Amino acid sequence: MEKNYRAELTAVFGDPVDGNPTGVMEEAAYEALGLNYRYLTLRVKKEDLEAAVKGAKAFGMKGYNLTMPHKTAVIPYLDCLTPAAEIIGAVNTVVCRNGKWTGENTDGKGFVLSLKRDGIKPEGKRITLLGAGGAARAIGVECALAGAEHITVLNRDVGRGEELAGLIGRKTGAEAEFCPWTEQARIPEGTDILIQATCVGLYPDSGRKPDIAYDTVTDRMVVCDVVFNPERPLFLQEAERRGARIVTGMGMLVHQGALNFELWTGKKAPLEIMYQALAREFGASQIGLP
Ligand code: NDP
Repeated sequence: MEKNYRAELTAVFGDPVDGNPTGVMEEAAYEALGLNYRYLTLRVKKEDLEAAVKGAKAFGMKGYNLTMPHKTAVIPYLDCLTPAAEIIGAVNTVVCRNGKWTGENTDGKGFVLSLKRDGIKPEGKRITLLGAGGAARAIGVECALAGAEHITVLNRDVGRGEELAGLIGRKTGAEAEFCPWTEQARIPEGTDILIQATCVGLYPDSGRKPDIAYDTVTDRMVVCDVVFNPERPLFLQEAERRGARIVTGMGMLVHQGALNFELWTGKKAPLEIMYQALAREFGASQIGLP
């Protein structure tokens, strides 16, 4: 049989991007399945995005991820968006299908899958979402599309918070309201799932936790964090101390990476291998995918 030395290419475009760990889990998955794929971590400056997108086409790449500052800016260069990416208004994954470059957002889907893996479903639930940035938007929209009943968005910036609550209310079947985040915000009674979707507590600021009234977190809540490094931020430690069931950001990270892998290769992702590769990278517990 004739040898094929040509690798299929995938990548992440961002700036800054040096600290982005996605390549570690994607390459571990490619190797585990014996696929001749590569994942390149590429610094693409804001003004060079169009050239990078054209480069991806010229190289016949399978697809690519986008991170800051390209998640919204890439949209005009794509052929189509998935319905969720259209609502969220941001794309973190592009896949080339039948010659069409399609924008998807796997962040929120990865979050919902990490909940489901823990036996938790957003259907009919009352959710409180801390934050209204990119991660919160993706999570809020996907939880709403997955059947959440009510979503309260707590955010410091009123404009961003109102925008997200309005978007969920208009474009999905869920009810949504915005509450301004002032000091020691109280978590609404009746919250089933509390989601920390700000960057507070992310390494190297691991000594910080969101300014909420922790005595309003109860043992009947499922409490989640998007921060994955450290694996158990102070926020989750506080919630666990109050008897809440916790879901770490590592699950979301691995599940969104797995969705990307499946979009690009058409094969089922080796979840546990991807998790172990990341856990080794962060020096985390490596006790198994949360
Ligand atoms: P953005 O910059 O888009 O949004 C940041 C959000 O955090 C805003 O809502 C901002 O509020 C809020 N915020 C920042 N500082 C504070 C503070 N001191 N108190 C209260 N709120 C604050 O960031 P992203 O949404 O892209 O990322 C957020 C986090 O999600 C990061 O830690 C990132 O690593 C993580 N993430 C995790 C993923 C995973 O797979 N686990 C995937 C994607 C992201 P305001 O609007 O008021 O400024």
